[in-house]
Parts: sequence; C-alpha cells; structure tokens
Amino acid sequence: MKVRSTRDSSLQMELSDAIVEGLASDGGLFLPTNWGSGLESITATSFQDYCLQALSPFFKGDELENDLSGIIDRALNFPVSLNFYEQNHALLELYHGPTCAFKDFGARFLAEVLSKKSGTGKLTILVATSGDTGGAVASAFHNKPGINVAILFPKGKVSPLQEKQLTCWGDNVMSFRVEGSFDDCQKMVKDAFSDKSLRQKFNLTSANSINIGRLLPQMAYHGYSSQLFFEKTGSKPNLVIPTGNLGNGFGALWAKKMGAPIDKVLLATNENRSVTNFFETGEFKALSSVETLANAMDVGAPSNMERLNDLYKDLNELKKDSLSQSVSDSEILEEIKEAYQKYGTPICPHTAVGMRAAKKLLNDEPYIISATAHASKFKEIVEPAIGSKIMLPPKLSGLLEKESFYFDIDASLEALFKKF
Ligand SMILES: *Cc1c(COP(=O)(O)O)cnc(C)c1O
Repeated sequence: MKVRSTRDSSLQMELSDAIVEGLASDGGLFLPTNWGSGLESITATSFQDYCLQALSPFFKGDELENDLSGIIDRALNFPVSLNFYEQNHALLELYHGPTCAFKDFGARFLAEVLSKKSGTGKLTILVATSGDTGGAVASAFHNKPGINVAILFPKGKVSPLQEKQLTCWGDNVMSFRVEGSFDDCQKMVKDAFSDKSLRQKFNLTSANSINIGRLLPQMAYHGYSSQLFFEKTGSKPNLVIPTGNLGNGFGALWAKKMGAPIDKVLLATNENRSVTNFFETGEFKALSSVETLANAMDVGAPSNMERLNDLYKDLNELKKDSLSQSVSDSEILEEIKEAYQKYGTPICPHTAVGMRAAKKLLNDEPYIISATAHASKFKEIVEPAIGSKIMLPPKLSGLLEKESFYFDIDASLEALFKKF
C-alpha cells in the first residue's frame, strides 16, 4: 500500500521508502492512503502474530513485504502484558523491552526496517528526545551497519538514568547535550530536515514519532490489547494514553479506526495542555513546553497533531472517539502513592498521569492504561512518593557502570553539524 503526505496527498510512495524519508518532502507527515480495516477479525496466537496480520496490508507490494515477519520477530522479541489490577481496569505493560519504555517498540521496528533499506548508502538518524526516545533509538540502532545516529537532548531536563541511556553507547551513536528545551531540540531536527542540502549530504532520516514506522507497532499493540480485554471481560475498553507528541495516542485512534474493539481514547496530558486545550476550545495553539514530573511528555507542540487533524476533520468528529484531560504534578505524586498503597504496584509518573485522568473522566467504565515506562527509570520521583525503594531491572543497573560520551552544544544547527 502506498502512503501519502498529510499536506499534498498526491505525494505518495511505498511505505518502507517513507520510513527511510521520515518526513515528506513538502514538510507533511506520512499516512496510509487507506486506513485499513479488519482488526476485529484477527485471531492471533501471540502479539507477534497479531502484529504481522495487522501490518501486512500496509506492506503489500512493498519491497519489504516478505521480510515483515522476520522484522517483527527480531524487533518485538519481548512480552506485551495486560495486568488487570481491578476487574475492569488494566495496565498495558509496555516496558518489557531493552530500555524499559514503550518506545522500544517503535525504535526497534524502525531499526530493523532501516537496516534492511540502508544498502545504498549510510543513513544518519537524527532524533530529538525528551527522555526515552533517544535511549530506545540508541539501543535499537547501536552497531547496526550502514546507520549513524545523532541524539539531541535538553541539558538538565532528563533524569540521570535517562541521560546514561542516551550517552553510554559510542560507536555509531553520537549524543548531543543541548543548551535548551525539548522543543528547541525538536525544532533543530525539523530545521535540519527542511534544509535540502543538509538532508542530502548526510542522508538524514528521523526516528521521532513523525516517522510512520514508529506508529505501526503501536497501532498493533493497542489493537491486540483491546482484543484481549474484550475477550476476557466482554466489554470494549477505553484506552488511556499518557500523551506527549501524540504518537502513542494516534496509534490508539488508528487501531480504533481499523476496527479494534475500543470504546474511546483518553488523551491524558500533564501540565503541557495544548491537546487538552484543543478539546476544550476547538482551537489548537502550540505552547512553550513547561517542565513536569512526567518529563517524557513535556511537549508544547505535539508533532502528531497534524496526523490527528487529518484523521478527524473537525472537533465534533474527534470527540465521538476521544477525550482529553490534563493532570498536575501534585496529582501525579498523589496517584503514584495511591497506586502503591492500593495495589502494591509502583507506577512511573507518565502512567500516573493516565491513572488520574482515567479516574477523573471514566470512573467505573472499563479501561486500559498504557504503562509507558518502568517506575524505576524515575526512581528519584517515585521512591519518595511511595516511601520505599524500587529495584532497577538488571538491564538498567548495568548501564550505570558504563562511561558516558557526549558533546555539549547550543541549540543551533551550526553547532550540531560542526561535530560531524
Ligand atoms: C514518549 C513517552 C510518552 C509520550 O508518548 P507520545 O507518543 O510522545 O505521546 C509517555 N510516556 C513515556 C514514558 C514516554 O517515554
């Protein structure tokens, strides 16, 4: 199936070529020419099997059509589990991959696709991160032949463990600590992409959720988990998504569009309220990002808003399928504490945003909350809130021993490309 740009819909190409491009040449984001359907009739024996069936239509006729099964098996080789902590409320544990955050799904899928496509020359992945993306991308692409990675992260705005995950690699992974905010980093990436000569010279591509390759496995796990929930309880769950750049939330809406048994999608934001404001006022305004305890969601101008506006032509349509709620830092702390006292489960600050939003808007309705990261990644926040220590999983504690490599730069493309 071909994909098209959100701006000029006659700008079309095969899916795997669009994954290499990252952003469309007119500045738009890629979307499928047909949203697809049929998720309701998938019978799958495993998540990997479900994913293959859900994604196959999009790779039909693509150069990688016959590689898809291998790509999925290599990329998504860790569990997706649905943890029912109440009869009709579940946490979708998306943190069992190598970097303990849901971004492993998209990043690893992308790495497998791009390493199949990099035959013709060296690709450079340029990625801005508010925390978890960079770590997942670095881990997924480390030592992949034919691919260099440059990671931009905002100085002082990621947790110590996240910083380690961004800087411990070396080899084909370069890390840049930027004097600025996440939005500054994201803007640098956008500016680099709009510069045709830079883009060609370095064969730049993106691993941010502007890349459609990131969204595909996310659409699949939302479809898969809603099906499991429906089979077990007989009701269609609402999906509660801790939202930053709207990649994961868009994946959920896409799964609903394709027929997965999903009631509504609740886009839960922290104090970066641009999405929630849009639901309230009907007007989208990009805001400067503010720092919160759920830092991977500190996004003032969510890049997937453009996709949302394509999927839903107006706010009334959007509101039939989804809702939004913003959650403050003090509510995040209360929620971390309550979840631990009530269920004995430490949750990360992002998951806590989802939990509080669900309580506010959904009450006793059935729902699945995306648990987007392992609580131990944010132990500086979680441990004082629950008054107890949490163990780092061995795959994270091992990182702390490693040496860091990074460049300090100001938020400009000149400073960045000087280091190449
Ligand atoms: C990136 C991230 C989010 C936000 O996801 P988006 O797809 O950007 O909306 C939420 N939680 C965690 C832990 C993340 O890393």
